Amino acid sequence: MSQPNGGTFDIVILGAGSGGYAAALRAAELDLSVALIDKAELGGTCLHRGCVPTKAMLHAAEIADQTREAEQFGIKAELLGIDMAAVNSYKDGVVSRLYKGLQGLLKNPKITLVAGEGKLVGKDTVEVNGQRYTGRNVILASGSYSRSLPGLEVDGKRVLTSEHALKLDRVPTSAIVLGGGVIGVEFASVWKSLGADVTIIEALPRLVALEDEDVSKQLERAFRKRKINFKVGKPFEKVEKTENGVRVTIAGGETVEAEILLVAVGRGPTTANLGYEQQGVKMERGFVLTDERLRTGVGNIFAVGDIVPGLQLAHRGFAQGIFVAEEIAGLRPAVIDETGIPRVTYCDPEIASMGLTEAKAKEKYGADKIETYNYNLGGNGKSQILKTQGFVKLVREKDGPVVGLHMIGARMSEQVGEAQLIYNWEAFPADVASLVHAHPTQNEALGEAFLALAGKPLHSHS
Ligand SMILES: Cc1cc2nc3c(=O)[nH]c(=O)nc-3n(C[C@H](O)[C@H](O)[C@H](O)COP(=O)(O)OP(=O)(O)OC[C@H]3O[C@@H](n4cnc5c(N)ncnc54)[C@H](O)[C@@H]3O)c2cc1C
Repeated sequence: MSQPNGGTFDIVILGAGSGGYAAALRAAELDLSVALIDKAELGGTCLHRGCVPTKAMLHAAEIADQTREAEQFGIKAELLGIDMAAVNSYKDGVVSRLYKGLQGLLKNPKITLVAGEGKLVGKDTVEVNGQRYTGRNVILASGSYSRSLPGLEVDGKRVLTSEHALKLDRVPTSAIVLGGGVIGVEFASVWKSLGADVTIIEALPRLVALEDEDVSKQLERAFRKRKINFKVGKPFEKVEKTENGVRVTIAGGETVEAEILLVAVGRGPTTANLGYEQQGVKMERGFVLTDERLRTGVGNIFAVGDIVPGLQLAHRGFAQGIFVAEEIAGLRPAVIDETGIPRVTYCDPEIASMGLTEAKAKEKYGADKIETYNYNLGGNGKSQILKTQGFVKLVREKDGPVVGLHMIGARMSEQVGEAQLIYNWEAFPADVASLVHAHPTQNEALGEAFLALAGKPLHSHS
């Protein structure tokens, strides 16, 4: 990153995370000049503090579990311990290789990288270190931060956010995870696999509450089996420091003690004091409001990524960044359908979903207009080989297309590619049932579910 002396560009982008850098790369391909501003490393949350390091940790955790369970497969192995320094260095190595790659991609004559804290000081201008960067268009992409709750002071030692958790130099003996959403269940899964005693506390009535209810039930069953403790429907009341850790009180007065507390109660938009409101940008609870073409309605200011209400996912940020660059270039791209964005939770077992849950589909189309099918992985050869349990659940409009796909079990993240094609192409079960799925794969479970829903089940036990 450099410190150029301001200037005028086709696009000025504030924030070089998934949304901002994707917009910059697509704009450069379209021959537009870009100033890409960031106060920290290029790549933002996803690369440095989010998707990539957490998934590396989850992979290390999976290896620990596989070693422990090797005997079930006739392999003699012993888990001698977890070398957290080595786990961290593996994880950091993955991040740093991808970071180098991204720096290479952004070394582009059309892109001027600007290091420093930016502020929107006009409808077309961002100021950084006293220099003004003026854009015929401006993209706000300042991302998000880990939220806390009133009365919950994060100290980075005993009360952590995910940023601190990723830097921990040891496996805690015990951990309380506040929040049973995506980030919470992923860390709970990692720490359990690495040997910690874990308790999740969730205010809502179920884990991963945004997923289909059947998925939550299956995850809770799997976590029970893994001896991951969880308390749902239990709002947090207070946390106190004890001699060696923390004590959390939850609704009803029950207390839980552990060495550390991870606060995973969601991500807030990074928009405070950045000049957005002063320029007339409409905001709600700190989020930037846009129309479906991601315009804020003020000048040529657009917004992308986690600051725009909706799914806070890196690939949504990429898609929105590309969309806005194309919109600015006059290509009139198709509007992004939020329900067409794949959602994956990478805990063990993995969860992947597309489109509407059964409840949402019933709300939208009417309960009598919806048909569902639940294909149990018990009938899937590869799942038996992997010794995993779960299901593929399909939700369809009666006599109509599939409007929701929900999957839970080992390696389900990798099935989401086909699921998103099916959903986004509004496929009918009979269309997919005629496609041949390779045997034996986890992917075959998706094919089998479609065979069953099309009225010709093969290895179906329900
Ligand atoms: C623990 C964790 C795990 C996650 N796992 C996944 C996952 O597996 N898959 C997935 O899809 N998503 C995941 N996410 C979410 C994903 O990281 C975000 O959705 C994504 O990073 C959002 O991109 P963004 O561009 O909106 O913002 P960010 O990536 O947050 O980038 C914003 C950038 O703006 C910069 N910035 C902010 N203010 C200023 C300023 N005033 N001046 C200059 N620069 C500024 C910041 O430094 C930052 O680089 C995870 C998140 C977390 C925290």
